[in-house]
Amino acid sequence: MTTLLIVQTAYLIGAICFILGLRGLSDPRTARRGNLIAALGMGLAIVASLFYPIADDQGNYLWIFGSLIVGSAIGWYKAAKVEMTGMPQLVSIFNGLGGGSAMLLAFLELRAQMDSADKVTLGVIAFTLFVGAVSFSGSILAYLKLDGKVRDKHVILPGHGWINLILLAASIALLVLLIISPSIGMALAALGLFLVYGFSFVAPIGGADMPVVISLLNSVTGISAATAGFLYGNQIMILGGILVGASGTILTVLMCEAMNRSLLNVIIGGFGTSTASSASQSDQDLSVQTAQPMDVAILLNYASRVILVPGYGMAVAQAQKYAKELDEMLSKRDVEMYYGIHPVAGRMPGHMNVLLAEVDISYDKLYDLDQSNDAIGETDVALIVGANDVVNPSALDDPGSSIYGMPVLEVWNAQQVVVFKRSMKPGYAGIQNPLFFKDNTKMLFGDAADSLKKIIDELKNL
Ligand code: NDP
Repeated sequence: MTTLLIVQTAYLIGAICFILGLRGLSDPRTARRGNLIAALGMGLAIVASLFYPIADDQGNYLWIFGSLIVGSAIGWYKAAKVEMTGMPQLVSIFNGLGGGSAMLLAFLELRAQMDSADKVTLGVIAFTLFVGAVSFSGSILAYLKLDGKVRDKHVILPGHGWINLILLAASIALLVLLIISPSIGMALAALGLFLVYGFSFVAPIGGADMPVVISLLNSVTGISAATAGFLYGNQIMILGGILVGASGTILTVLMCEAMNRSLLNVIIGGFGTSTASSASQSDQDLSVQTAQPMDVAILLNYASRVILVPGYGMAVAQAQKYAKELDEMLSKRDVEMYYGIHPVAGRMPGHMNVLLAEVDISYDKLYDLDQSNDAIGETDVALIVGANDVVNPSALDDPGSSIYGMPVLEVWNAQQVVVFKRSMKPGYAGIQNPLFFKDNTKMLFGDAADSLKKIIDELKNL
């Protein structure tokens, strides 16, 4: 067998691993295995690429191995160290680096092939430069926003939608010019503009729309990897890029559906970034009813059906192990407990599933949005553990609210609602939650893990 045939066979096996990996990721039960299989496929593809026979072998192995070792060490260290609540930021950075690599490859290819390449090749190079740069700078801004280092109000300009349209038109014009008369000066000008456009594209998207922008950028990075693959005639890059682009696009559409928004509406921006619905004077005048752990233990003791709605605060408090302990305790008393999972709860797609899977909570107990809303009317107690935006009734009944139209868990239809949080501060979208002021709602202030632990202790005495 020639070296090329061996390399291509390895690519084929790598591609099969990617597809099996993606298949595994579609179910929480097989997700861990799926991730491992896809990583093995990627490892095989990288090793095989090192043996790819090339005509002008320039003996770059020192650079290649040096970068591989340094990159792998940093990636491993970061992934091992990251807190669960910091995962979305890490995903954004990794995603941006993928786009950045495609951008650099395109720039180097343009420099090398400027005088010799045909227009189709130049078109692919220019397009790769564009999507790679947009994905790079857009992901960096998404990281800064998610990490709270940049606030929406600092990067949104008046008439931002129009600014973006002008930047897009100018980017397309430079892209075409780059194909017609390529030069280093033109390439640098185009690269600068593409980077500005990527940054400006993400700037007006914020608040509750961040899950959508993360998956959208993910699919853009996939496209840039696929077009970079075309440049080198590298099948595994093309296939891997297409898989990432397609799955990112599907996830983006699902996220938009979950939030009842069109993609165009998300891109134009503003959802969850307005202050229209932040604590109004009348809300501030209202008072909330508070509860102590003992009161909640008594409620649970007499309940027959309980829903627990986890949110971002559960991840912060790491309260999932106490949720599991409470669940076991209640099932011994013949109380049915189920979990209401909102698709955008937490800070990344599937965040709550990952948290609950960590403590082996049975998947049959995880109800999606529709299942939960059907069951809540027949539920005695709703425990809202660190969730806020995903249980906000304004999404249904306040057309002036910035989250109006997003489907939410209608927990107020339960007999009693207990909200676990530390203060009256709003959630990610920055808006007040009228749920807290309803007659059947009680606030249990404090860290969610501490509160659950105290309830468990009280229940032991009942
Ligand atoms: P929210 O961000 O709306 O609310 C989290 C709540 O947790 C806050 O009210 C906070 O209140 C409370 N909290 C924080 N720490 C603790 C703690 N230690 N103990 C008890 N409570 C705590 O979370 P949701 O999950 O309801 O909604 C997710 C939001 O994030 C949505 O707006 C969504 O669009 C957005 N988002 C989602 C992403 C995704 O992919 N899932 C990605 C990016 C954004 P307090 O500070 O008073 O304790």
